[in-house]
Amino acid sequence: MDLHAKIVATIGPATADPRSLKRLLKAGADAIRINLSHGSGREHRDAVARVRALSAELRLHVPVILDLMGPRYRLGRLEAPRTLRRGQRVVIGAPDTEVDLPVDDVDLLEYLKPGDRFLIGDGLVELKVTKEADLRFVAKVVNGGKVSSRKGINLPDSDMPFAISKKDRSDIKLAVELDVDYIAASYVGTAEDLRALRRLIRRAGGETPLIAKLERARAIEHLDEIVASADAVMVARGDLGVEVPLHRVPVLQKQIIESGRVHAKPVIVATQMLESMMQNPRPTRAESSDVANAVFDGADALMLSGETAAGRYPIEAVKTMSRIIREAEAHRSSTRTRERAVEPIAPANLPRDSSALADVVSAAAVFSTKNLKVRQIVAFSQGGFTARAIARYRPETPICVLTTEPRVARRVQLVWGVRPLLLEAAVEHHDEVVDRVDRELLAAKLVRKGDTIVVLMGVPIRDRPLTNLMRLHRVRGDT
Ligand code: PEP
Repeated sequence: MDLHAKIVATIGPATADPRSLKRLLKAGADAIRINLSHGSGREHRDAVARVRALSAELRLHVPVILDLMGPRYRLGRLEAPRTLRRGQRVVIGAPDTEVDLPVDDVDLLEYLKPGDRFLIGDGLVELKVTKEADLRFVAKVVNGGKVSSRKGINLPDSDMPFAISKKDRSDIKLAVELDVDYIAASYVGTAEDLRALRRLIRRAGGETPLIAKLERARAIEHLDEIVASADAVMVARGDLGVEVPLHRVPVLQKQIIESGRVHAKPVIVATQMLESMMQNPRPTRAESSDVANAVFDGADALMLSGETAAGRYPIEAVKTMSRIIREAEAHRSSTRTRERAVEPIAPANLPRDSSALADVVSAAAVFSTKNLKVRQIVAFSQGGFTARAIARYRPETPICVLTTEPRVARRVQLVWGVRPLLLEAAVEHHDEVVDRVDRELLAAKLVRKGDTIVVLMGVPIRDRPLTNLMRLHRVRGDT
């Protein structure tokens, strides 16, 4: 049986070549992420083309996620690496001035104030700002360590507004041109930041869905509005664990996943899931538990980063993750989230007025499976909303999405438990939908003649409304 939780694999030097990529997809990677913080535009173009070609060859619907670098602040150039010691005082300031630690972007200094933490290199080195005079800051070292040129900076206490860099603008154009399936938005703090990115996507001529990466303390304060306005979200535990105390991350993970379910938005849990597999063929016990617990929390997808991009065992990492998910899903606790029945989506959180109807019809479909032996819940979907509306109830019955849109087939692949099937030819009438459902599901061996299935669709079909019809149906055919 297919897994319900999906696997997102980041590709990089370890998996960029066609042979490794093919093995990655065959091992069970459902979606591919490309981290735009590394590599050139040319490499990204080639990688997307390769994923598309291999997915066609393997007859898979593989969404491609381009992950923007976002407003990444760094130290400027240091003459040589230096070690900072606890209690030491250092001066932070603009580049090309007489300071101990220059920053690469003076804008950052405008938002720094006494009392703020100044974190360097994934938060390993921590300074506390004590004094300011003319944009020169004195800071005391709280946790010492080695610092060097271009190390990343995090300012978890500052109100620095979201900024869209020149690189992000050009990467958005690239994402639209390549017709990728999702753009992951780094360092957003509010729903308005997502709206600013959407405006740029539209200006580039696209409507690429946005994955909001939750990795700033500010984003956690605006969690609900961000989840409501994103198309999907990511628990980006790498930066999140720098911006908020690490002991809060497990609980935040649960809260974000719950918010995703309330708003019918897929949630990806990311970073260090099988980190030790960068070097070793087996994960640690803690990593194995972490993957299983993300499944128990109800995540739609789990992500591999360095493990598949630059690790020594990328294929094994996907296979290992897949095995842990399978075992976790077979266990009763994975159904715990299902039993916590979900309320209908609050009207304010619905994308359109008519989606209330789609949500209620989806709930009815899931409800019908409790009293009838239903083999599949099938959504004939032209946009993908119904897939999310069904999946949020986490039904025991498999969910299949039939669509005539290759983009929709790829996008719904990220959603918990959803199997997409692409129809080659257009469908005009709802009776035809049911005939096609029978044929396609029989051919894919998902049903047998006489099985009961629930079919959801929006009628009249040619007007492409959201789902408004549920039909209980017995599969016809001669297989
Ligand atoms: C993260 O911070 O967890 C994350 C996924 O972002 P990135 O890998 O782009 O830093």
